[in-house]
Amino acid sequence: MINEDNTALAAQFLRHDAPLDAISSDLQHDGAVYRTLLESTRAIPWKIDWHTMEFAYIGPQIEALLGWPPSSWKTVQDWAERMHPDDRAQVVDFCVAQSKAGADHEADYRALTSDGGYVWLRDVVHVVRDEAGEVQALVGFMFDISERKKTEEQVARLQRELEELSFKDGLTSVGNRRMFDIALAREWDAALKTRSALSLVMIDIDFFKSYNDYYGHVQGDACLKRVAEILGEGLRSGDFLGRFGGEEFVLVLPDTGADAAMRVAERCRNLIGAAQIAHERSPYRQVVTASFGVGTIVPSEDLDSTGFVNLVDAQLYNAKDNGRDCIAAIDRSRVR
Ligand code: GH3
Ligand code: MG
Ligand code: MG
Repeated sequence: MINEDNTALAAQFLRHDAPLDAISSDLQHDGAVYRTLLESTRAIPWKIDWHTMEFAYIGPQIEALLGWPPSSWKTVQDWAERMHPDDRAQVVDFCVAQSKAGADHEADYRALTSDGGYVWLRDVVHVVRDEAGEVQALVGFMFDISERKKTEEQVARLQRELEELSFKDGLTSVGNRRMFDIALAREWDAALKTRSALSLVMIDIDFFKSYNDYYGHVQGDACLKRVAEILGEGLRSGDFLGRFGGEEFVLVLPDTGADAAMRVAERCRNLIGAAQIAHERSPYRQVVTASFGVGTIVPSEDLDSTGFVNLVDAQLYNAKDNGRDCIAAIDRSRVR
């Protein structure tokens, strides 16, 4: 298996400015290091003549790796053509520029196999110059780095998943509290700039403690998921739905005036009612209901977003005080 040490050794080896036909005698003379290198890696050595751009040599191991026999590697054109089209331009341009500048370099790319697949390779390249400093040849090693790439891709995928999970509520899959804070800050700033109306709807399930006490926490969780699904129905693409905590949810509605926000809250209230989720212990028709606090504001310097959340939270308390299963709203969008 190829590892970082092998790559470093190869680079060191290549810096010896030895033409490849001299490599074997070099190895015979000294270099337990070099012998170890060649015996412990599957690195594929190659040499390209700078003036003709033809392969002067390529290790026979290339056939086992990519399926193309050494005799089929004639010019740099063969090398470029046997590269994934998405990597080609960038890798070829980079290698040509580095070689012209006389700089040793490395490039990773997907090499085409004779059966139409791709293998990730790392090419470690050394530029050989004559006494006058003119570029004479390029020598290098190709390494099979497909296993490493697979691991890298797996790590990147897990990282993306983790990132996504860290913004999602684990139970209901709507945005979590952290995401709510980010969404609100973003929409607050946007509305402040454009002087547009921003609305917030806070939703709290009524008598949910007695729902849990009666049905148990597992069914309580199922109820929370169902309510989250219902609240997500019919939202516009810019709207945000999150779980504020416990049995409380929140909607951030950008570019939404007081009347429109009220309609959204009414629609949510009606949908929850229409779902008729049994709640034996609720004094209201023995179904799950929720209370709503609605607020609308054109953000200004007078009040920050936390102040606005508190204002809307107070509406939610009003709705509870007014008997639950209802909506209380405040419109600050006309106050200047
Ligand atoms: P109110 O009508 O005034 O809102 O009364 P309530 O019973 O809904 O409010 P309270 O704050 O007294 O109780 C909320 C309950 O929500 C308590 C807790 O058991 C439940 N709860 C909070 N988070 C979860 C959860 O993740 N899963 C379940 N199953 N229950 C939860
Ligand atoms: Mg609550
Ligand atoms: Mg409640």
